[in-house]
Amino acid sequence: MAAHKNYIGGKWVESVTGKTYPVHNPAHTDQVVGEFQTSGVEDTLTAVAAAKEGLVTWTNTPAPARANIIYKALEILGRRAEELAETITIEEGKPIADARGEVKRAMAIMEYAAGEGRRMFGYTTPSELPDTVAYTVRRPLGVVGIITPWNFPLAIPAWKIAPALICGNALVFKPASATPLSAVKLMEIFEEAGLPAGVLNLVTGPGGQVGTALVESPDVKGISFTGSTEIGTELYSESAKRLKKVQAEMGGKNAVIVLSDADMDKAMNGIVQGAFGSTGQRCTATSRVIVEEDVYDRFMTELIERTSKLIIGDGLDASMDIAPLASQNQKDKVLEYIGIGTEEGAELAFGGRNMTGGEFDEGYYVEPAVFTGVTPDMRIAQEEIFGPVLTVFKAKDLKEAIGIANSVEFGLSSSVYTKDITKAYEYINTVETGMVHVNASTLGGEVHLPFGGLNSSGVGQREQGTAAVDFFSEVITVYIDHSPEAS
Ligand code: NDP
Repeated sequence: MAAHKNYIGGKWVESVTGKTYPVHNPAHTDQVVGEFQTSGVEDTLTAVAAAKEGLVTWTNTPAPARANIIYKALEILGRRAEELAETITIEEGKPIADARGEVKRAMAIMEYAAGEGRRMFGYTTPSELPDTVAYTVRRPLGVVGIITPWNFPLAIPAWKIAPALICGNALVFKPASATPLSAVKLMEIFEEAGLPAGVLNLVTGPGGQVGTALVESPDVKGISFTGSTEIGTELYSESAKRLKKVQAEMGGKNAVIVLSDADMDKAMNGIVQGAFGSTGQRCTATSRVIVEEDVYDRFMTELIERTSKLIIGDGLDASMDIAPLASQNQKDKVLEYIGIGTEEGAELAFGGRNMTGGEFDEGYYVEPAVFTGVTPDMRIAQEEIFGPVLTVFKAKDLKEAIGIANSVEFGLSSSVYTKDITKAYEYINTVETGMVHVNASTLGGEVHLPFGGLNSSGVGQREQGTAAVDFFSEVITVYIDHSPEAS
């Protein structure tokens, strides 16, 4: 099988290391999805140099003309949508319905970002001096590094790349090593759309080499990162030393509160989908539920009934609810946390088995798990598991529930189910998360609204919406003295 190449300066090239690595299908680990370049520092610096060249043309291309290329890429992606959805499922493992949703999400952000090409607003304001005009304009940052995780191999790159391009930046994109095929296809799409050489460059390879080289290069002016809190924290501090602009979207431990007046069906739908959809491998996945004690027993009976009906198997089969985890590492980590929860004294109320036998032996399958009797100090209550594991708490009232919700280092997304508007607002005003839902799951977000978290979940400007334009551009303030003579 010919190895997929890096895309640098408008050409598909091999890494100078001469090394490649395979990616396997998480549902059938004997199937190789593709071979990819194991690039290193030299490849990355070549890509940065290519981006510097590409920047000259692209910065001088009017933003509405940049938009035309993104619209063209959107059209091509639309044509290849099903192929891309299958690619996501084959390399990441998620159910095909989730993969199709991811492609739609990528398309929506491209459409939104292209529209920004006709806005990109600055403002004018009166100067305090006579005969003087004062206004602001936006300029690109320059060369920007894009570093992404494996759990949304198309949508996360798209929601960074499209806004960065519309603002006139040139990019070096380093996808997660586990999911480079969606990235390669995204490059093909932009190439076919007519993006000039050097404007968007792809380098696959280990984060410690390629990602570090981007952070350390003085020619890279900004980094947009999504991934673990551990790597994001290190990347943020290393970038700060070099005065780079950084946005880092990181982990989550998202909580849902169910009050006694909640619409139980609605809550159950949101929680089951939030906890186990995409096999729990979403940064916005529901990993904690805090239930008011009056309805706790009823809630638990329904939750276990609903969870036990979920069907587990290869994500390409559209009838599956739960697909394999993305890698052996992910499977080991999830099973380790299930063990930790039991050792800590929580009760494994449902599931949590390592799925074996038949088709399950071919992939990284774990049965969804529900823990009860969880206390806020336990590791399973505090640490991001990033898999189909739900921890359930009992609270006597909203105040206690909010206390539990806020007792973690993370602050990405959260939700409350209640019909009481006063309680809903009390929650909105006190919960410490960047995104708050009422009567809806912790998942997702819309592309024209800011996306991101507080505390250990995120630092730097938000992604998507107009916040993305704020991150990927610098505001320049202009003063023009047009007085007729020296004063
Ligand atoms: P990692 O932090 O392990 O990796 C993220 C990216 O960083 C990968 O491309 C990785 O490369 C790269 N990387 C690794 N080491 C370095 C380094 N030293 N310098 C620069 N880059 C490096 O995260 P995962 O890929 O495991 O993704 C899962 C995490 O992402 C979860 O914590 C999840 O919560 C978070 N996430 C957050 C979202 C949000 O918006 N808040 C959305 C989606 C996911 P390589 O793959 O080669 O190791």
